[in-house]
Amino acid sequence: MQQAQYQLIIVGAGPAGLTAGLYAARGRLKVLLIEKGATGGQVLVTDWVDNYPGFVEGISGFDLMDKMTAHADRFGLEKKFTTITSLDLLGNVKSVTLENGEVLTAKTIILCTGAKPRKLGAPGEYEFTGRGVSYCATCDGPFYRNQEIAVVGGGNTAIQDALHLTKFASKVTIIHRRGELRATKILQEKAFCNPKIDFLWNTQVLEVRGGKNGVEELLLRHHKGDESILKVTGIFIFIGIAPNNEILPLAQLRTDDSGFIITDDEMATSIPGVYAAGDIRSKRSRQIVNAAGEGAVAELSVEHYLGNQAPDQPLNCSE
Ligand code: NAP
Repeated sequence: MQQAQYQLIIVGAGPAGLTAGLYAARGRLKVLLIEKGATGGQVLVTDWVDNYPGFVEGISGFDLMDKMTAHADRFGLEKKFTTITSLDLLGNVKSVTLENGEVLTAKTIILCTGAKPRKLGAPGEYEFTGRGVSYCATCDGPFYRNQEIAVVGGGNTAIQDALHLTKFASKVTIIHRRGELRATKILQEKAFCNPKIDFLWNTQVLEVRGGKNGVEELLLRHHKGDESILKVTGIFIFIGIAPNNEILPLAQLRTDDSGFIITDDEMATSIPGVYAAGDIRSKRSRQIVNAAGEGAVAELSVEHYLGNQAPDQPLNCSE
């Protein structure tokens, strides 16, 4: 029978992947974490995290992920920064093909590929991306100093990032398709009290319009069908997330209608030896603390699956 190179390969280095990696490295598994970008995932571009337990005053998304990476590194987590082109998850030995053609094998896999911002699909959105259309307030907010901008969406991301954008913009108009916000009450209260924030309720963006310098205006439709123009130089779109499932063998894995992976409470997917954690999972609550917790649960499930075998690595008495 083919021998696997690793006991565990973790795909993706957001809070779920880093926590799974921390547990696995500390648990002396022969583990590899593969990430295509930098460690940290979506949290890297989160301005401020106010609800991660233990950080009483809050912490920037960047600093939190820096600490999670350092924590996993402390236990010697092996990491590889490269793009995976395909995965074969069936059978006792799973294979992971990298962009350079190299094939790595593992007995178990934890999928932590996360999610990305959903697109609006309005004409002009694609054309003006990077020239007035943005999906990242932390990255692009400083470009809109003293300008009037719009935020689309009514969830936690839209409201939290609209609040962040008021540090730069002279006015932020939140455009929401319904008459009430989905965001938590504490964020709602902050937004309603912010003098720089205006709301356009029951309104949808029909088109993003502009010229050679970027976005100039939005064509809007209100709930009774009437249309209007909103003059802005930037539009930040926060209308939910879509799964990062492009490299996943979707014919092998059970997913929901939106393409998020279905797991049980132990993070097990429909394939034995394959687990999923974090935003790639089909679930309702998407919090950093959930992702980290799920990473821990997934790794403990891996240890259970591997039958609590003796560690492959030599004893390390220095800790
Ligand atoms: P979300 O909670 O799914 O909210 C998406 C928002 O976009 C909703 O208000 C939705 O409207 C609107 N929307 C969806 N499709 C639209 C469309 N085609 N046109 C116009 N509007 C549209 O997504 P999210 O805010 O990105 O949050 C994702 C997850 O991360 C959530 O679980 C959230 O709780 C979590 N999160 C947590 C925090 C925090 O705890 N501080 C911060 C950020 C994110 P409807 O309300 O009408 O459906």
